[in-house]
Amino acid sequence: TNILNSSSVYKVRVVLRVRPFLPREISDVQPCVSVIDGHHDRDDSEVAVHLKDPLSCRKECYQLDALFHGRDDDDENVKQIFDREVNPLIQAIFNGFNATVLAFGATGSGKTFTMQGTDELPGLMPLAMSTILSICEKTASRAEVSYYEVYMDRCWDLLEVKANEVAIWEDKDGQVHLKGLSSIPVNSMPEFHEAYSCGVQRRKVAHTGLNDVSSRSHGVLVISVLSEGGVTGKINLIDLAGNEDNRRTGNEGLRLQESAKINQSLFALSNVVYALNNNLPRVPYRESKLTRILQDSLGGTSRALMVACLNPGEYQESLRTVSLAARSRHI
Ligand code: ADP
Ligand code: MG
Repeated sequence: TNILNSSSVYKVRVVLRVRPFLPREISDVQPCVSVIDGHHDRDDSEVAVHLKDPLSCRKECYQLDALFHGRDDDDENVKQIFDREVNPLIQAIFNGFNATVLAFGATGSGKTFTMQGTDELPGLMPLAMSTILSICEKTASRAEVSYYEVYMDRCWDLLEVKANEVAIWEDKDGQVHLKGLSSIPVNSMPEFHEAYSCGVQRRKVAHTGLNDVSSRSHGVLVISVLSEGGVTGKINLIDLAGNEDNRRTGNEGLRLQESAKINQSLFALSNVVYALNNNLPRVPYRESKLTRILQDSLGGTSRALMVACLNPGEYQESLRTVSLAARSRHI
């Protein structure tokens, strides 16, 4: 019933997902993340997370809405995020609301694993799709998907045979549209996998002359639902580009430009989430392409979730990610 109350403004929940160490990672790397007061019942208002610099032993502490800590028996981790955080959003889209789920963090922190997953361990995207399909079946609704990427502030349709640039335009009411973005009906999981994996392939070769930029662009899967009664809603599931520290990576030329755009758009995103969570009178959607595009699905009556992804062995990266997450969350 809460969901139906369209006058309420939802906070953007900011949760943390720490991936486990991988077999190939040296076993004597010290984990830099520890949890204090960390129990994650659904009703808990927040968790405190410690980041500990293995070199200086300096500690930083941050508050977030929930923590999903991957251990070796991590199989249920993404499923837990889905059940606790994403499933309620899916219920909302069938009531006509929009929703957004964003995974962010450094390259190698587990964003793609969280959003896309593997054949054995499906991520939030396929879990969302299959849940939506089963609700569609029960309610005689239809589902459609779009898949595009935002690279260097330009938008590319990944469901077209040849990845096409999509124009972003604003109508006289200030609504932002992606002109000509394709949208295909999906009736089954095989249909979804077919469309999605073609899109993933295209993403790798979308920019002629460039190497794989898939981790340097934001990948946006949109699942829209249309009920028999004409109610529409959609969920955006986003694998954000990796945020990186140029002082550490030594990026130059195109890499540096890409990275500047990525960091700019992640910063703009965190400003938007901060403004929403703190009820600021002005939400700075216009500061980046990504936040302009997401304007109808972030804030207002929309519901959103940010999943900050951490590699447990990377202190500096984790610090950047968690401070951006915590900064988005509250004052
Ligand atoms: P990103 O998309 O942030 O660059 P990936 O999702 O590609 O990071 O993850 C980096 C590596 O970690 C991949 O090899 C991925 O399979 C692995 N990984 C991430 N999370 C898990 C997990 N929960 N269990 C096992 N492997 C994981
Ligand atoms: Mg990735």
